[in-house]
Amino acid sequence: MANMMLPGPTRVPEEVRRARAQAPDVMDSDPDFVSFYQNTCRRITRLSGGGDDYETIILSGEGMLALEAAVASLTEAGDRVLVLDNGVFGAGFGDLVQLYGGTAVPYTVDDRRPIDPVALGYFLESSHRFKYATLVHCETPTGLQNNIDRLCPLLKSHGILTLVDAVSSQFAEPIQASLGIDLLCGGSQKALSAPPGLSFVTISPAGWAAIQNRKTPIASFYANLQNFAHYYEECWFPYTMPVSDIYGLAAALDLVEGDPDYMVRHAHLARACRGALQKAGLTLYPEGNPANTVTAFCVPEGTTDKTILELLLREHQMMLTGSFGAPAGKVIRIGHMGANCNKEDMVAVMDALQGVLTALGVPLLCDLGATFRNRI
Ligand SMILES: *Cc1c(COP(=O)(O)O)cnc(C)c1O
Repeated sequence: MANMMLPGPTRVPEEVRRARAQAPDVMDSDPDFVSFYQNTCRRITRLSGGGDDYETIILSGEGMLALEAAVASLTEAGDRVLVLDNGVFGAGFGDLVQLYGGTAVPYTVDDRRPIDPVALGYFLESSHRFKYATLVHCETPTGLQNNIDRLCPLLKSHGILTLVDAVSSQFAEPIQASLGIDLLCGGSQKALSAPPGLSFVTISPAGWAAIQNRKTPIASFYANLQNFAHYYEECWFPYTMPVSDIYGLAAALDLVEGDPDYMVRHAHLARACRGALQKAGLTLYPEGNPANTVTAFCVPEGTTDKTILELLLREHQMMLTGSFGAPAGKVIRIGHMGANCNKEDMVAVMDALQGVLTALGVPLLCDLGATFRNRI
């Protein structure tokens, strides 16, 4: 089988597979399971820097469900929502907001640059009547990271709630939800390396208040976060919880919590990867704030993404990926998140790229594999 070094889904460790297989046959209304669910939620809150007054809800559905549930639960007809957009996922929030009756006001900047808090600050001086703002931590299609530590407190200082998509950064990059994030969305299949199928929304007290104090009903059942408000007291979920998925999730959290180098390793290997690519003369797509979970570099002149990807797979059994949306065809992406973020796999990626780019006649200024090895 090919080595899939993609920005999700990531390889599922044996411990997680085993926990899923060994999950008990239990009804999800069993108080022991309800406590287990709540405890698993609390671990996600803690790993995301939310205080004891934050609450996480685990939803049965892939990452998109978290985004949709957050938007559906916050948005009322006519609400003005600021959509910070420097990439595919950022722009996509605008569609979700409109779908639930909100008015999306886009704030769009170059997809190779992180959103500049200073420029946003100027914009907000003259325009800040928004119920909430949406922003993306790691724009996976471009490997670009936004500085949520500065953007969220800035938005909050103008009385704007914040909804952050951290699906491809949560657990791999430090996140301090208590510093201004009201709804934080994550998923199981990226840096946590559990199988796809679960998503999480971590909610601040102000976020909950906004969801609970709406004047109109939420235009969804499955994506309605209000329905989870009393699950613990009532031992009742709005729909049947996928018990084995949640046991697998807990095992994946064990691995993250038990590994003090989890985030450090992401930062270290990502830096070495970028360093080797640049030293070889390749160009990173982001022109600032590259993410530590995925690296996107520009397709060199004289070849195409398809050619490179096909050769990688055929000659090296290595699966990387291109992109979609505006960067489609322009970049190759290397996923190095979760279980895929390890030296051996990354050395294999760099050696395979060296082989393929050389075979295609792309001039490289150094050996990618050797340079990467020197840096790890
Ligand atoms: C993966 C991802 C999602 C979930 O989207 P899918 O393409 O359905 O997996 C949402 N946001 C970001 C930033 C992601 O990387």
